[in-house]
Amino acid sequence: MTGGFVIQASYFVAAVLFIIGLKRMSSPVTARGGIIWAGAGMVLATVVTFAWPGMENYLLMIAAIGVGGVLAWWSGKRVAMTDMPQMIALYNGMGGGAAAAIAAVELLGGETHGFVVTLLALLGALIGAVSFSGSLIAFAKLQGWMKKPIRFAAQNKTNAILLAATILAGIVILIQGHGGPTIVAVFFVLALAIGILVTVPIGGADMPVVISLYNALTGLAVAFEGFVLDNAAMIIAGTVVGSAGTLLTQLMAKAMNRSMTSVLFSGFGDAAVEGTEVEGTMKPIEASDAGVMMAFARKVIIIPGYGMAVAQAQHKIWELTQLLQERGVKVTFAIHPVAGRMPGHMNVLLAEAGVPYDIIYDLDEINQEFDNADVALVIGANDVVNPAARTDTSSPIYGMPILNADKADNVIIVKRGQGKGFSGIENALFFLDNSRMLYGDGQAVASELIHSIKEL
Ligand code: NAP
Repeated sequence: MTGGFVIQASYFVAAVLFIIGLKRMSSPVTARGGIIWAGAGMVLATVVTFAWPGMENYLLMIAAIGVGGVLAWWSGKRVAMTDMPQMIALYNGMGGGAAAAIAAVELLGGETHGFVVTLLALLGALIGAVSFSGSLIAFAKLQGWMKKPIRFAAQNKTNAILLAATILAGIVILIQGHGGPTIVAVFFVLALAIGILVTVPIGGADMPVVISLYNALTGLAVAFEGFVLDNAAMIIAGTVVGSAGTLLTQLMAKAMNRSMTSVLFSGFGDAAVEGTEVEGTMKPIEASDAGVMMAFARKVIIIPGYGMAVAQAQHKIWELTQLLQERGVKVTFAIHPVAGRMPGHMNVLLAEAGVPYDIIYDLDEINQEFDNADVALVIGANDVVNPAARTDTSSPIYGMPILNADKADNVIIVKRGQGKGFSGIENALFFLDNSRMLYGDGQAVASELIHSIKEL
């Protein structure tokens, strides 16, 4: 058995581990295990790379793995659940940057590559660099460092000119089969500028879709560089990330009723677009009364949102659910695909608290159930239950599918005050006759509800 065969066979095993990992991530029950399978694949692929024929620079490789590993471990342990999207944006950007860096080394090397290899290296370089700088801007936006979308006249035209110039620089490199430092530097500066300029005008509300898109692009860039290096693990891992990312992007865009062209080329989450003003008053309720209302209900649907994550109220909410169940109340959870700040955010929190999966439903499965629910308990959710999405054509969230909490007989909304949701618009649900506002921090309110039901 030759060394080459062992390397290729190990890469094949690593690729299988990635795919098993991804498959297991499709259900919350097996998702944790999925991460471990995929991680094992990554460890195997990394270790085997040391045995690659002609490999040098072992010290540099170990130092890079050491620095990267420590930083990732430290930041992964420290990050708050609510900051996870920007963390993903950052890591994703690093992947794109790494692919672009590989391409830079290949393009700069004195050796002339064939046409196809140079073309693939250039494509990976372009996509990786755009994904790198675009993801960094997405990180800055989600972190709150860049609050407003930046728009200027002829923005799309400027981007088109930049892209044309980048392609031109790419053609020069392609004709030579490799590039001198100047032309390669020009190519990368232009590509990085495209990533920045395409991302700065995009509003915060569209960021999850954009991050998912960059994730898909990073996968594609890695796959292209895999062809350049003749590395099967990179080709397969990149393709898997690229296709999974593309599917996720489509699903998220659909959940927010946005097309990719409108995300990338028109404004959203713009403070100027506020929708029709909502009339009426918000009517408060005490925890003791809300507790009675739920304790004597037949059917309660709980809708968690970003505020539940902020309050870390999931454990108390599960305790409340069990109390209600003991009294014979049928309790279910309704999860909107973009509730919280990342795909699956609410599922992760509820799973952490031990809520069984068979009482958690997706939007499509539960939306018709609100018609015969006695109480809809909205805990820290806002945009995902805003009926303006159904009725107000001037609303920036018009057309986004929402959870029909307003159709329940009674709606109890737990939030701290008059704070708006992610989209920055008022919520018509809070003003309806059947709605009551239960003010306070999500966790504290859940404790009060538990207390009031125990007192009955
Ligand atoms: P949301 O619209 O952001 O609203 C969250 C609400 O929680 C706020 O109105 C806030 O009101 C309340 N809140 C905050 N802290 C709280 C606390 N400690 N206790 C109780 N309430 C608290 O949340 P959502 O309904 O989950 O909607 C998600 C939004 O984020 C959508 O617009 C979506 O497009 C966007 N988004 C989603 C993702 C994703 O992938 N899931 C990623 C990024 C953005 P108060 O301030 O009054 O308490």
